[in-house]
Order: sequence, then C-alpha cells, then structure tokens
Amino acid sequence: MKKLMSVFVSVLMALSIGATCAFADSAQVATYGVSVPGSGENPTPYAENHCGSYANHDMLSHGWGNIVNKDTGKMVVQMGACAQCTRCNLVIVTQNDPGGALPLGYYTTWQPNEGLSSDITTITQTSNNIKYTSSKTIPGMSFRYAS
Ligand SMILES: [Zn+2]
Repeated sequence: MKKLMSVFVSVLMALSIGATCAFADSAQVATYGVSVPGSGENPTPYAENHCGSYANHDMLSHGWGNIVNKDTGKMVVQMGACAQCTRCNLVIVTQNDPGGALPLGYYTTWQPNEGLSSDITTITQTSNNIKYTSSKTIPGMSFRYAS
C-alpha cells in the first residue's frame, strides 16, 4: 500500500511538471528563419530596401527578439528589440532598441510573409545574414512604437 502511494505521488508530481511546461509554452515564442519548418522560408532571407513603392519600411515595434547564428548554433542577440513592417511584414531584430541611446548593434531581417503572433520572436540566420551597425538607424527603415 505504501508503494502504491508513492507511485501515486510520482504521478501527481509528473502531472504538475507537465502543467508547468504547458504554461511555459503559452509564453508565445515564435521561431523564424533559415531551415526552420513552416516559417515562411524565402529565397531572400535578408532584405533591407524593398517595401513596394515606398522609400522606407514602416517598422512598428513588436516585442522582443532573439538572433541565433545557424552556423555556430550560438545566440547572438538575446531579448533584443523586434519590429515588423506594417505593409510588407518584414521583421527585424536589433540588439538595442531603435530610438535609444545605443547603436543598434547586431541585427538581422526575415520575411515571414505573415503578421507576428508572439511577443518574442527568434530568428535563426546564417552568419552572412547577421549584420552589425554602430549607427542608430538603418537605411530604408523607419522605426516607430505603437502610440
Ligand atoms: Zn515593408
């Protein structure tokens, strides 16, 4: 009877751990990028100056972003800034906040061809698609925050 009880307790613990994981999943982390299934893979994963006939992408702030280097497996940017173009859905993750005091630092873009559904977006990119800038702006991009 004692043994049965301990099995019962183990099952209860397993259930509560399962519940904790399910809660973590609902924190909404979306992963886009090179070789990520179902992430809108595109022949031109990196893009800057193409927003139809508009001079600038209208990059509206969209939560936080991570950048993972596909070649090294390392996370280059953790909890950086994420923004998405309101017209063409282009996504950019920058190391530092656009409009802040610091240079943008490491950044990359990705075209998921859909609106972002999560508050945290991870973009997996190859090394040559991860850029660095010591500037606070990127040509062809206009950053803004929701009013
Ligand atoms: Zn655009």
